[in-house]
Amino acid sequence: MGGGLIKAVRTGWAKAILIVGAVSLVGVAVAMAQGPAAPSGVQKVRFGGDRNETRVVIDLDRAAAGKLLADGALDRRVVIALPNITVSGDLQGAGQGLVERWLIDEAAGGARLRLDLSAKAEVRRRFLLPPGDGATAYRYVIDLKAVDAPAARGAPRPILVSAPVKAPPLRLKKVIVIDAGHGGKDPGSSGASASEKDITLAAAKLLKARLEKSGRYQVVMTRDTDTFVPLESRVQIARRADADLFISLHADSGPDVATRGASVYTLSDKATERVNQVLNKDDWLINASMPGRDRAVSQILMDLSQRVTKNRSAAFAEMLLQQVGEETSLLRRSHRDAGFYVLLAPDVPAVLLEMGFMTNVEDERLLNDPDGRARVMNAVGDSIEAYFATQTKLASR
Ligand SMILES: [Zn+2]
Repeated sequence: MGGGLIKAVRTGWAKAILIVGAVSLVGVAVAMAQGPAAPSGVQKVRFGGDRNETRVVIDLDRAAAGKLLADGALDRRVVIALPNITVSGDLQGAGQGLVERWLIDEAAGGARLRLDLSAKAEVRRRFLLPPGDGATAYRYVIDLKAVDAPAARGAPRPILVSAPVKAPPLRLKKVIVIDAGHGGKDPGSSGASASEKDITLAAAKLLKARLEKSGRYQVVMTRDTDTFVPLESRVQIARRADADLFISLHADSGPDVATRGASVYTLSDKATERVNQVLNKDDWLINASMPGRDRAVSQILMDLSQRVTKNRSAAFAEMLLQQVGEETSLLRRSHRDAGFYVLLAPDVPAVLLEMGFMTNVEDERLLNDPDGRARVMNAVGDSIEAYFATQTKLASR
């Protein structure tokens, strides 16, 4: 594992707080009253307007806190996460005005909306309307405006209804971030003949190849060479990638050379507490970015998002141990809660796998041997497949 993993997390959380700032207060109040509820769906996706200004309305049966993941500036593709919304299978259809087509799928424990734009446009505003004025659904509204287009003449056309179409299996690839522990000037633990940083990088590359072979995953590496990557950057890479899963690879060390076995860590309640303390300290940021917003509300949202993430991380950890346990021995208490910094991305299910002990002869031999390493990483790959199969089943119930 190596030292220095636990540090202050100001930079990473500044981003998280800004994201929470985009949430409508009205929606939040209702979501709180509902508490954890059964999976819910998108009822309808509607469009109004023209190629100058287009309004997208998503009818939902509960309040949603949308999060803009991509604004379309780069590739004319707007992506918005709706973390507490569940979809059963993919939904997609043709758009209108500035939207050529749309797709909603399940990602990172919620729904993800993708809008493919037909022209250069920007997201002007997003907001949530609670039921009322004859509407029984919550309405998440996204207003798009063409960039460099002449001003819209007259009022936008009335909103037309287009029912979601059940899609054939056209799922966006799941994004997996693989974090090879340590690197560069930070070697991690030392064995008799190898350094942890080299073992983790070799293992990460094997796992990447294993996952990409299936065609179902897009893999992002926090490093793919022997370089030093600060912990803050590793978490930021996971967040920017909008990862569906984050897995950090390490190899243990201990004072007793007889100690061996793999173990898995997930985020602990203590770490969550620490996160909330950091949140409290950053008053100035909340005040600056969320005028008139209640800080308690953002904490509740953060807490909800973390609870879902923690449950998912724990579910994956159990599957991981089951598979890895078939290839190598496990520590007696092999699933542990930890406050490791790399697990602190609030909305990405994350685990840290200690593949074995560098200080144990047998473990080091296994991890140093390309075949042994491949067997362990294939087991990790199997557990990732199993995890997403379960998630899909849960979502389509
Ligand atoms: Zn390590």
